[in-house]
Amino acid sequence: MKAVVFEKFGEVPTIQTVADPEPAVGGVVIKVEATGLCRSDWHGWMGHDDGIRLPHVPGHELAGVVVAAGSQVTRWKAGERVTVPFAVGCGRCFECSSGNHQVCEHQSQPGFTGWGSFAEYVAIDHADTNLVRLPDEMEFATAASLGCRFVTSFRAIVDQGRVTPGEWVAVHGCGGVGLSAIMIASAMGANVIAIDLTDEKLDFASKIGAVATINAARTPNVVKAVKQITNGGAHMSMDALGHPTTSFNSIANLRRRGRHVQVGLMLGDHARPQIPMDKVIAFELEILGSHGMQAYRYQAMMEMIRTGKLKPELLVGKKISLEEAPAALMAMGGFEGIGIGVVTKF
Ligand SMILES: [Zn+2]
Ligand SMILES: [Zn+2]
Repeated sequence: MKAVVFEKFGEVPTIQTVADPEPAVGGVVIKVEATGLCRSDWHGWMGHDDGIRLPHVPGHELAGVVVAAGSQVTRWKAGERVTVPFAVGCGRCFECSSGNHQVCEHQSQPGFTGWGSFAEYVAIDHADTNLVRLPDEMEFATAASLGCRFVTSFRAIVDQGRVTPGEWVAVHGCGGVGLSAIMIASAMGANVIAIDLTDEKLDFASKIGAVATINAARTPNVVKAVKQITNGGAHMSMDALGHPTTSFNSIANLRRRGRHVQVGLMLGDHARPQIPMDKVIAFELEILGSHGMQAYRYQAMMEMIRTGKLKPELLVGKKISLEEAPAALMAMGGFEGIGIGVVTKF
């Protein structure tokens, strides 16, 4: 099969012909029909992820068709249209048996712990626990865009952030995660403030549900601005970018008993940011992480998509070919444009 391969961290990936994958006894092989480009792929390529063994094929936001299933797979067969969360749970550990596959102790992640979906085929283990059937009407490009950012935002807003109608939600950073979170929080009935450095993204955020925007490049004190708009602070706030400044602001702009959810990755020099711990105590703030979403939780999200309350297709950006993927991957270190780039030609 054709695949995007890198032999060394930070060196230009190339298109190579490599062996087709075989399914594990409990796994499947999926013919990839769409795979999204994500900043975490860029982090992986740069060598920020300890789990990656070289040479490596990136890619973790995928959708496609099952072409082969292992002998122990009972729920899936060739021909079924599927997607999969990026954190693939083993289905057997304590976390998985308590319903928390997203933090499985033995999780695999396509494109990180093993070869990913920037290829014609990808192998996914523990298929019965992790595969999600796609509605007939959903395009592969839309389905691929769910796998990482959209489901992570859904869990961050709904399950971790516990957003309820009428609450104020601040979203720091309007890339793929941030825009997804704005759409989801608005659909949940919250009043959402979008915060970013560019007017283009803020205008788009308003179109998909934000009731207020703050351009951080022109606002000397973002925390003060959020507190003014919300009359005291956000009930829930998310750092969707992953930067010490946005992380700090997202915690500092909360009202008493507010919830901060960290979704933007904090790696390398950013792994240990400053936290206003005085406020965490005095205001009884909650600081939560959010890491993907369990396959079984897709159902609620899929119903909101089916009924038109969520429109992830609006967040799909440029469609490109596998040949264009290496350049697009290397460019992910800069700030993303609007919409998630998706490889749809292999
Ligand atoms: Zn597990
Ligand atoms: Zn991702």
